[in-house]
Formats: sequence, C-alpha cells, structure tokens
Amino acid sequence: MYHRLRIQVIISTLFRSSTTMSARPFAPERQLALSAVRRACALTSSVFNKLVKNETLTKGDKSPVTVGDYAAQALISVMLKNSFPADPIVGEEDAAELRVEEGSVLRERIIALANEALVAPLVEGDKAEWGIGPGQEKTSDELLDAIDRGNHDGGRTGRMWTIDPIDGTKGFLRGEQYAVCVSLLVDAQVQLGIIGCPNLPVDASKPDGERGCIFVAVRGQGCQQIPLTGSTETALSMPAFTPSSLNFLESVEALHSSHSTTDTISSILGITRPPLRMDSQAKYGCLARGDGGLYLRMPTGVGYREKIWDHAPGAILVEEAGGIVTDSRGAPLDFGLGRTLGENFGVVAAGKEVHSAVLDAVQQATGTKAKA
Ligand code: AMP
Ligand code: MG
Repeated sequence: MYHRLRIQVIISTLFRSSTTMSARPFAPERQLALSAVRRACALTSSVFNKLVKNETLTKGDKSPVTVGDYAAQALISVMLKNSFPADPIVGEEDAAELRVEEGSVLRERIIALANEALVAPLVEGDKAEWGIGPGQEKTSDELLDAIDRGNHDGGRTGRMWTIDPIDGTKGFLRGEQYAVCVSLLVDAQVQLGIIGCPNLPVDASKPDGERGCIFVAVRGQGCQQIPLTGSTETALSMPAFTPSSLNFLESVEALHSSHSTTDTISSILGITRPPLRMDSQAKYGCLARGDGGLYLRMPTGVGYREKIWDHAPGAILVEEAGGIVTDSRGAPLDFGLGRTLGENFGVVAAGKEVHSAVLDAVQQATGTKAKA
C-alpha cells in the first residue's frame, strides 16, 4: 500500500513537472538558443586562442574577429533554420565579401571553423535534428547562405531572431569582455534573450575565479545565470539602490558612450564610486545580477543609430531581473523600426527605485527633455 502510494506520488510529480516544462512559453526556443550560444562561445574562444594570441595584430587588423563573427553567425543561423525554418533573422553580418575571389582565404577559414563547431559532440540537451553533432558538416554555399539569412530588415510584426555573434569586438581582441548575443522578438517585443560571456567571472566578487557565464531570460519567467561549463541555473534579481549608493557600468570606448556626460550625471547623482567600464552586452548581464546599479550609454553627438541586436537580448535580462530600460530621454526602446532603434538614442538601464531620478540627472546634464 505504502509502495503504491509512493509510486503514485512519483508518477504524478513527474507528470506535473513534465507538463509544466512543455507548457512553458518559448521552452523549445530557449533550449535551442542556449545550445547555440554555448557552441558559439566555444567557437569564439577557440578563435581567440588560435588566432588572436598567435597573430601579431597590426593596428586596425580585425581579421580574427571577422573570422569569428562570420563563423559564429553561420553556426547559430544553421541551428535556427533547422529548428524554426520560417523565422527570419536580423544578424549583424552578411557574406557578400566572402563570395568574391579576394575573400577566398577568409572564407576557407570561416567554413572550417563553422564546421568544426557544428560537428562537435552532442552534450546534454542537444538534439541532432538541430543540424549539430558528428557528420553534420555543411558545404561552403550552405554556410554562406546561412550567414546571409541574417539579412532580414526587421519590422513591427511576426517572429524574428537577432544575432550579434561577437558583441564588443574591441574587448574580444584585448582578451577582455565580449558577448555572443541572441534574442527572439515577437511583434517587436523581446520574448527571449540569451547572452554568452566567455570571459566574465561567474562571481563578480571572485574576479580571478571561474570564468564564463550565460545569461538567459524569457518574458515572464525571470532572468537566470548559468555557468558556461555547467547547467545550474541561478535566478537573478536586481538589488535596490538609492541614487547616491549607485555605481554605474559604461562602455570602455568613449566613442560609443560619452564618458564626459556620464561623469556629469554621476556628479549630479552624488555617485562616489568610479565607473565599471566593460565592453559588450556583458554590461546588461552584470546589471541584472547586481554587479552595478546602473548602465549608462550616452550619445556622443554623431547621430549614431543603435542596432537592435546590440540591445534586445540585454534589455530583457534587466527587465526580467526587475529593472527598467529606456533610451537616454526616457523613451521605451522600439525594436519594431527595422535593423536600428531609429530615434532611440543612448540607454539608461537601472533598478525601478532609481530609474526616474537617473533620468532627471541625465536631463540636467544634457539639457534634453525626458519623454517619460
Ligand atoms: P560597447 O561594447 O557597449 O561599447 O558596444 C559595442 C557596440 O557599440 C558595437 O556592437 C557597435 O555596434 C556599437 N557602436 C559602434 N559605434 C557606435 C557609436 N558611435 N555609438 C554607440 N555605439 C556604437
Ligand atoms: Mg554589437
């Protein structure tokens, strides 16, 4: 009797958990994108070790990053096509330069790298039907076409994916922070965001400890961090800050975000700690887990239009961890305008307790009127 009852409890628990899992919105997309980002992180780390470390880079020579960018976009695109063939992709790269004779050397390296990543053994959770695992090499034309599937124009309606295969190229080349970033938009709303950060310490308080994190968020299902080498998921939520206790994250590159403007904003808010400068959307992941209290990206005055693949994955991480993300004038980020964020300039991402105080300070520092 006791045994029968126990078996029933086990069966009903199993049944409940399996139905909960399958009923979770975007569960298949999350599983596939996690696997794709993991594989792409292994690919980019291997490019760094093989190429960046061993090549003397002349100033402005971005060839390793180019090889890594194309190969990682090809890999992720192949996996998406096998799983969700009808979904268009807005990706940073296109293969035009690889299709001409002068691109042949680069092309060969890219095809070899992408195939190496595609045929790597399956790990827990991987499915051969995604086009990965031993024997799943693709031809050069198939891989170039996969890169070019990222040419979609974006827009207001339907499902579409964004891919930024190596966000933070300068950080990548320096051996510092960069990120592999994927998101799923449905009717211009981000529903899923995944960011892989191969060089980011798993625990910010142990900067010399284990490195390599994935951040993932599905709308309404919170934000989680997973070590790149494991599967343990840690739920993230932003701690509450007061304006003067904030520390802030910003770009390393002053050409991407005006350091002088953030300096003024910081003084207005009474922030005493120096900025935490970091390349790539790793900043959004760090903000979501509370390493910083605020991410400021202030326009540099050149009219640069932000790209949707640079912010869609990061924005949902912060929102699902309890924060608010707007542009520098307080307007919501609009992912439905095409490949760029159109009239959204800069970013202010912060906890809900401080976001409006930060916007007031931004307005004072820049003389612009906040929209919300
Ligand atoms: P970050 O590492 O946060 O500085 O951001 C890297 C991203 O900045 C790259 O992926 C570029 O797409 C983007 N970017 C390039 N030029 C600019 C610019 N003038 N202003 C803002 N972002 C830029
Ligand atoms: Mg980028």
